[in-house]
Amino acid sequence: MTPGPRRGSSTTRWYPESVATFAIRFFGDPVLKQRAREVAELNGELARLVGTMYETMEDAQGVGLAAPQVGVQKRLFTYDVGDGPEVIVNPEIVEASGEWVYDEGCLSVPGFHFEIVRPKLVTMRGLDLDGNEVVVEGDELLGRLIQHEIDHLDGVLLIDRLDPDARKAAMRDLRRTDFQALAAEDGGGRRL
Ligand SMILES: [Zn+2]
Repeated sequence: MTPGPRRGSSTTRWYPESVATFAIRFFGDPVLKQRAREVAELNGELARLVGTMYETMEDAQGVGLAAPQVGVQKRLFTYDVGDGPEVIVNPEIVEASGEWVYDEGCLSVPGFHFEIVRPKLVTMRGLDLDGNEVVVEGDELLGRLIQHEIDHLDGVLLIDRLDPDARKAAMRDLRRTDFQALAAEDGGGRRL
């Protein structure tokens, strides 16, 4: 449905500014359970994909977004922990240390948070869009984000990181959840 014309103002826009975003895939979508493929070519098409992922991430108020979450089976993710949007291609964790408990949320599992223990500090290696090797050290939130997004590239969701009993209980709740409705209600904030 499109809005009909309104009287009284000639400057009213009938259509919102067109900002291209992807639909985020939710829990239960098979694309979230597959291992994404390495990116073989860094080209304009990939740069456009990343631009649209930035918009999608910002629109959803996420701090991280992996390509499979928008249905693209490529090993890359975008993130923004407050210093502007960044992307990493073919990332891998080369070092991890410490332990940190964090109440983790996911754009693909809106409305839910789970306390998960993971390494606190990680070092990630990957490529930028020009093909340069980049090394990123992430502590606490950034470290958590890196691990969460790389899990997405491997088809692993945050609930897969819960202990068996907690996972079973979470699965019961998740199976009867309407994520489309929850995503619209959930104010977001620090989801990965
Ligand atoms: Zn996620």
